[in-house]
Amino acid sequence: MTLLETENLVKEFGGLVATDDVNLTVEEDERVSIIGPNGAGKSTLINLITRRLDPTSGDIRFKGESIVGLEPHQVVQRGVSKSFQTASIFPDLTVRENAEIAALAAERGAFGFEFLRHRDSLTDVHGVARDTLDSVGLLDRADTIATDLPYGDKRRLEIGIALASEPDLLLMDEPTAGMSPEETKSTVDLIERVKRDHGLTFVLVEHDMEIVFSISDRIVVLSRGGIIAEGTPDEIRGNEAVQEAYLGG
Ligand code: ADP
Ligand code: MG
Repeated sequence: MTLLETENLVKEFGGLVATDDVNLTVEEDERVSIIGPNGAGKSTLINLITRRLDPTSGDIRFKGESIVGLEPHQVVQRGVSKSFQTASIFPDLTVRENAEIAALAAERGAFGFEFLRHRDSLTDVHGVARDTLDSVGLLDRADTIATDLPYGDKRRLEIGIALASEPDLLLMDEPTAGMSPEETKSTVDLIERVKRDHGLTFVLVEHDMEIVFSISDRIVVLSRGGIIAEGTPDEIRGNEAVQEAYLGG
């Protein structure tokens, strides 16, 4: 089944075409990486999908229904989550509370607290939060105040927050940016584990080619806002246009 589909998607900033007629599809259970030089339009594309940006023209469909016109939190409720937004952590709350709020937000819309009248859903929220912290390896830090976590654990919590909403599609924009080699490895291991345990569909923007080639089913190459190539890691490695435009010959 096609989970995500953009159709002739265009985003202009003034005279600049940041997204140039992009037709991107992501199938269920597929792991897609988006690569391309700085300024190619990778983050813009992600931000269009999460509804942080309005497209200039074109359509975005998730599970067959247009999501253009929805609010960002409604997109989360439909099953699209974005990880590695630093703003997603509440620094003064505990790790557990952060996971619970994320689980709630997906269930009830952004922080509508009418859930308090529904005991069943509250029990679910505790369970989902617990399972989530377990799968990102933070269960033993559940009572730690988020701001006191080491950097690598904060990144784990961000993945946890994205997972707690039980997304059908997880978007990640440069998850390893600013990480040490050890933190990068531990994050990649975590993404691999989540991919295995949760059978998650994801779209990953990543500049580290080693990670991209090892983790993706399909790679989409952006240049100046448009898709210039897509294919399996082997196909992309051998693609001359990609070599020229991006991999540097
Ligand atoms: P990437 O993530 O691939 O590095 P971006 O999507 O961030 O690229 O940017 C694509 C192009 O759009 C760049 O030329 C960038 O300067 C421009 N751009 C991005 N966001 C904005 C914005 N909010 N206003 C104006 N121009 C923007
Ligand atoms: Mg970017």
